[in-house]
Amino acid sequence: MENMESEVMNVMPVKRKDGTYAVRLCLHQGLFNRAAMQTVQEVMDTFGLTDLRVTTGQRLNLEGVPADKIDSVLESLGNQVEKCPPGISVCAGGALCKYGKQETREITDRLLAVLKSNAPYPFKVKSGVSGCAMACGLSFVRDLGLVGGAKGWTVLYGGSARHRAAPGLTLAKGASADEALDLIEKGLAYYKENGKKGERLGMMVRRLGSEAVLDALT
Ligand code: SF4
Repeated sequence: MENMESEVMNVMPVKRKDGTYAVRLCLHQGLFNRAAMQTVQEVMDTFGLTDLRVTTGQRLNLEGVPADKIDSVLESLGNQVEKCPPGISVCAGGALCKYGKQETREITDRLLAVLKSNAPYPFKVKSGVSGCAMACGLSFVRDLGLVGGAKGWTVLYGGSARHRAAPGLTLAKGASADEALDLIEKGLAYYKENGKKGERLGMMVRRLGSEAVLDALT
C-alpha cells in the first residue's frame, strides 16, 4: 500500500446547528495512517475533543469543536481547504480483497483527476469504484460508478441512493480503464451541457429519459 506517512492532511470546517464546528479530514481513498492518527490524537487531547465520526463518503469528522477554537484546531491538524476533493467511495479492490476482479486504487486516482480537470458541474458528483459486482464502493447508486469484472470495467451513470433510489445506467461492460475513463469524461461533458444548476446527475437522467441519454453517450 502507498506510503502516505509524510503527507499533510487537508481539513475543512463544517458549521453545525448548535454553533460548534466539525473538522472534516479529507482522507484520500479512505486511508488514515499512523502519522495522521497521532496528529489527530494530540489535537483531541490538547483541545479536549472526544468524538471522531466516520462519514458515508469515507472521511472522518472531528466533531464538537467550539467556535472560538476552530482556527487553532484547523491549524494544528493540517491545511485548511474550502472543500474536500470530490467524493469517491472506493473498496479495497483486487489488490487486497479475495473477491476482487480489478484493482481499484489506481483507477480511482485517475477518476479523481478526470473529475477535477472537468469541474465545475451543475451540482456535486459522487462516484463509487468497486473491484467486483458486490459493489462495496456503492458504485451502482453513485452519480458515476465503476465495477470491476473479469474482462474489465462496467461503467454506470446517474445512480442515486436518495429518496428515489435507482441504479445508474450501464454505459459499458468489459471496458479497459482508458475506455471507461473516456466514457466518464464524455458523460461529464454531457452533464455540464444538459444538467440544470443544482440538479444531480441522476435527476437529469430521469428528466431527459434513459433512452436519450444512452443514445447520446453510447
Ligand atoms: S466490491 Fe468486491 S473487491 Fe471490493 S471489497 Fe467488496 S467484495 Fe471486495
